[in-house]
Amino acid sequence: IKEKQENLRSPICCIMGHVDTGKTKLLDCIRGTNVQEGEAGGITQQIGATYFPAENIRERTKELKADAKIKVPGLLVIDTPGHESFTNLRSRGSNLCDLAILVVDIMHGLEPQTIESLNLLRMRNTEFIVALNKVDRLYGWKTSKNAPIRKAMKQQSIDVINEFNTRLTSVITQFKEQGLNTELYYKNREMGETFSIVPTSAISGEGIPDLLLLLVQWAQKTMVETLTYADKLQCTVLEVKVIEGHGTTIDVVLVNGALHEGDQIVVCGSKGPIVTTIRSLLTPHPLKELRVEGKYLHHIEVKAAQCIKITAQGLEHAVAGTSLHVIGPDEDVEEAKKTAMEDMESVMRRIDKSGEGVYVQASTLGSLEALLEFLKSPDVEIPVSGIGIGPVHKKDIMKAGAMLERKKEYATVLAFDVKVTAEARELADRMGVKILCADIIYHLFDRFNGYLKDIKE
Ligand code: GDP
Ligand code: MG
Repeated sequence: IKEKQENLRSPICCIMGHVDTGKTKLLDCIRGTNVQEGEAGGITQQIGATYFPAENIRERTKELKADAKIKVPGLLVIDTPGHESFTNLRSRGSNLCDLAILVVDIMHGLEPQTIESLNLLRMRNTEFIVALNKVDRLYGWKTSKNAPIRKAMKQQSIDVINEFNTRLTSVITQFKEQGLNTELYYKNREMGETFSIVPTSAISGEGIPDLLLLLVQWAQKTMVETLTYADKLQCTVLEVKVIEGHGTTIDVVLVNGALHEGDQIVVCGSKGPIVTTIRSLLTPHPLKELRVEGKYLHHIEVKAAQCIKITAQGLEHAVAGTSLHVIGPDEDVEEAKKTAMEDMESVMRRIDKSGEGVYVQASTLGSLEALLEFLKSPDVEIPVSGIGIGPVHKKDIMKAGAMLERKKEYATVLAFDVKVTAEARELADRMGVKILCADIIYHLFDRFNGYLKDIKE
């Protein structure tokens, strides 16, 4: 047993809930940074990952419990997008996770995406803890920065406590209506049967120590099996990014196993499988999110769970949202290539290539899936004839241009969260192909409708 405990990997925790409940802000609060204000429309568009080392968790929780046993090396937290057309991205995020934080706004109770997230978690049998966030918004709340929640509650007037209790009871009732038993975590005697609620404020930090400690202790107590470090590699590409001095890199989440400098890998590419060798393994400094640029630490080996930036040659067309494979010494390269392309091919099969429609370009396989789903929904219904991942290049314009003779308005590239190269823009102008860019999915819809109106006039 001793050996097992010493060999635990970091749990991966996914943070879910309705838009604006404070998911990103909660992470910001634990990290002590401000990603939330830098996001497009304040909505998280890509999955971001942050590693919290055990020392940091110990520091943040010592006021709550000075001698807490933390057996895991840390906690890897993945923030997922909140907009309703992001089910796909969310389902990818929750797929990677061992456990989750479900964030509920104490002033709003359960909202549509809370329920959607809840169902996703139940479907995957993922354990979760409810963060009942924004307690500082209770009328008359007295701030005690970063305090354990019971200590913070002791500072409150009877009116605040009454309002808190009323709202808490109402949330517990709403969960009950969803067939779920929940209870304030320090009153919960049967974790596992009854889900725990931790009141928090992402602004002033009350309850954050409780949330962190509960997550770590719950994980290391009940998930020893899952968290026992295994050699079998499980690794997902989150983002493909050009970084100055490194060329095109991929950000991955290593769920299990280890990666080494010099490993031969295969990843899914939009132009076919990419076989390459890991040049370097980089991690951001702990507590910095992978989305935030900055200096990196170099590693010879990285063990799960971690988020890592990989530099290697030939990653230009790598597809985010797909799995990464390491080719073992006895492994057949051709087999590995086939496996690598499976995710992509399943998405490609979903569009009707013979039909008429716009050309859709997105940053990751996950966001492309989300966008395709959105365009298909009943009140949108924009047909799609072609898709691409990554920056918009000349070849994408050529493909979109094929619609010029059939249906001019479909000679349009809907570019979601991607850059457009200067050459592509120039070619589009010359050919009469329209490029519509947006960082938020439903803005693309608005732009396209605006464009249709312009054409008609
Ligand atoms: P997300 O969509 O769930 O990621 O939500 P954000 O983290 O972007 O937060 C949405 C808004 O709620 C922002 O304006 C935050 O500043 C605010 N917010 C988040 N957490 C809290 C909190 O605990 N208290 C208060 N008063 N505001 C919060
Ligand atoms: Mg967010």
